[in-house]
Amino acid sequence: MRKYVIMGIQGSGKGTQAKLLADDLNLEHISVGDLFRWNVQHRTKLGAQVKRIIAAGHLVDDDLVESVVRRRLDDHDWNFGFIVDGFPRNARQAEFFLESYDIDGVIDLHLPDEEVARRVLARRLCSQCGLDYNLIAHRPAVADTCDVCGGRLIARADDNPEALAVRLQAYHEQTRPLIEIFQRKEFVATIDATLSVAEVQAAVRQRFALPPLSAPQA
Ligand code: AMP
Repeated sequence: MRKYVIMGIQGSGKGTQAKLLADDLNLEHISVGDLFRWNVQHRTKLGAQVKRIIAAGHLVDDDLVESVVRRRLDDHDWNFGFIVDGFPRNARQAEFFLESYDIDGVIDLHLPDEEVARRVLARRLCSQCGLDYNLIAHRPAVADTCDVCGGRLIARADDNPEALAVRLQAYHEQTRPLIEIFQRKEFVATIDATLSVAEVQAAVRQRFALPPLSAPQA
């Protein structure tokens, strides 16, 4: 059983790296942002509660986030473990999480601020199948069209300069300081996220003594 938290500034590749690890090691990838976006897209009651908050780049209320995380982990569908992405994001969430769950380590992806805006504003996702694209590193063959399903590519509602500024402020003020809290109790592996997807994945695996990925990604 492996239990990890993946942290890092916006655009550092948390989701991409978490998915690679999860697919290979049979871990549940628990992305709080993805859970919220699913609810917004499917117009659920929860989606209606968080839609505007997310689009403006603000953090969702702690009680609501905690109940979503608790419910998700209470499903106990993670026989081989989990990797939590986008949580915890402030001291209160960290306290709740560390009181309730033992973790094996924290993956901390480090990306300089200058690179963040460049990556985030180029990010697109398929409106049908959800596949991620990036107009710098992973362009679709046909503009605005998903290579796999032909769906229309869209930007996330919060990937715009105004919401990004709010998200970066929350990251620096509330989320980044958590690394120190984690360092007191857990193994934290800080990895240079300017490297390629395959290099970052290899570094994560090396730091956690995991076998190399058999089919490396570009
Ligand atoms: P992400 O996909 O991780 O960038 O999350 C997208 C948005 O979902 C964030 O900007 C917040 O509005 C909300 N969100 C995700 N995780 C959390 C969290 N742990 N606490 C509060 N809000 C969150």
